[in-house]
Amino acid sequence: MKLFSRRKRKLHMGKYPMEKIKRVPKTTTFISDEVPRVPKRANFFNRAALGDLGAKAKRERPRFVGKLPFARSMGKVCQAHLPRHKGEPLDTQAPLPDDLTERAEHFKALAYFLNADVVGICEVPEYAWYSHDTNGDEIEPRHKYAIVLLIDQGFETLDAASGDDWISNAQSFRAYMWGSNIACTVAEYIRQLGYEAQAHTNLESDVLHNPLVMLAGLGELSRIGEVVLNPFIGPRFKSSVITTNLPLATDQPIDFGLQDFCSKCMKCAVECPCNAIPFGDKVMFNGYEMWKPDVAKCTAYRVTNSKGGGCGRCLKMCPFNKEGLISHRAALWAAIKLPFMRRFLARLDDWLGYGKRNLVKKWWWDLEIVDRKVTVPESVNKRELNKNPEEPSAQRLGLYPKDTIPDPDRREAAPVDRKEGMQRYEEARQENANRVAVEKEAAK
Ligand code: SF4
Ligand code: SF4
Repeated sequence: MKLFSRRKRKLHMGKYPMEKIKRVPKTTTFISDEVPRVPKRANFFNRAALGDLGAKAKRERPRFVGKLPFARSMGKVCQAHLPRHKGEPLDTQAPLPDDLTERAEHFKALAYFLNADVVGICEVPEYAWYSHDTNGDEIEPRHKYAIVLLIDQGFETLDAASGDDWISNAQSFRAYMWGSNIACTVAEYIRQLGYEAQAHTNLESDVLHNPLVMLAGLGELSRIGEVVLNPFIGPRFKSSVITTNLPLATDQPIDFGLQDFCSKCMKCAVECPCNAIPFGDKVMFNGYEMWKPDVAKCTAYRVTNSKGGGCGRCLKMCPFNKEGLISHRAALWAAIKLPFMRRFLARLDDWLGYGKRNLVKKWWWDLEIVDRKVTVPESVNKRELNKNPEEPSAQRLGLYPKDTIPDPDRREAAPVDRKEGMQRYEEARQENANRVAVEKEAAK
């Protein structure tokens, strides 16, 4: 729905009115000065591949995307982009405008021209660079700026899905594929202008995306924990990044009231099939104060899901997962401007039935590749909205901070110590409760 005339809107502003969202000097998630850099070995999909999550996850990890014929096809296209991530710039730098804002607007317009959904620019803090690659070799932080792209996974298809059925990973790869296409093109273009640039996509990335998505003013970190949420496309996106040494004007983080909204809404936690999203408060994790999910549980569920391929049910069920109709914009406006309405809006989403599968929109075939043969899967996740959630009695989550991560070059399995993880979570919860009590006392 058009709320304004597109013809008068400059291309660098994009299709969503991000300029109407409040800008703030710091991210709404507290990030301390002591965020440690982590190796790629810390990534739980890498840990699953090396056996840290057990034999079943290790066996399923190489096929969990490729078992869906459609996801496999897009994965192969992404792989074809791998040689285009890095490259040498031309010897001579192009005569570009000195004005850094003009430069930034040029690259944003270019990304929108190439079909990105939301674009922002930030400086790259050192902690956003992985410390070591998958071989255990050190990664040098090399570029100061990041152009960050969000690519929508597609509202209508997610509307039809349960979030963890046989389209799930294909939805992710739709966004990964477009993001890779755009990021590799923009990086190559910058190199043709004589500046260094590198694309970072889901197949190959030397940077962590979540802090950059926040710093570039594209979203706030949500209760889902590993997911940043944009006011207009919600959590329904994947990000791609281009880092460069070409100086550009940067954006500020945004604040649309999500921290308060998520404190009053538990929908993702209620609907997570493996109970990995916290119902409780934020904790400190590797220098971030955040709602921290149990990533080991989530990854194991996604990788070994036998009734679908992957999982994105938390994205599907979030009240911010909307398609931009005028009624949705009105609810978004209320969510941003009227904090007292937030609890009601979270409940209203359930009452209106958002989160049910809308089978009018189902178009894909449920198919699975087993031993190079395409078969009809034995089962399909057909979850529906849980309108009467019970309060969780005792949610047991694991926390795996930096000091529990295996060495960057370790190739053999380093099994996740679940007992220790749960103990670390309890300690972090207690520390947080103590800190809040001290702050409350000081405020009296
Ligand atoms: S992706 Fe699925 S398993 Fe993981 S947190 Fe979201 S709903 Fe839970
Ligand atoms: S479902 Fe609710 S609590 Fe979860 S991320 Fe969305 S708004 Fe936040």
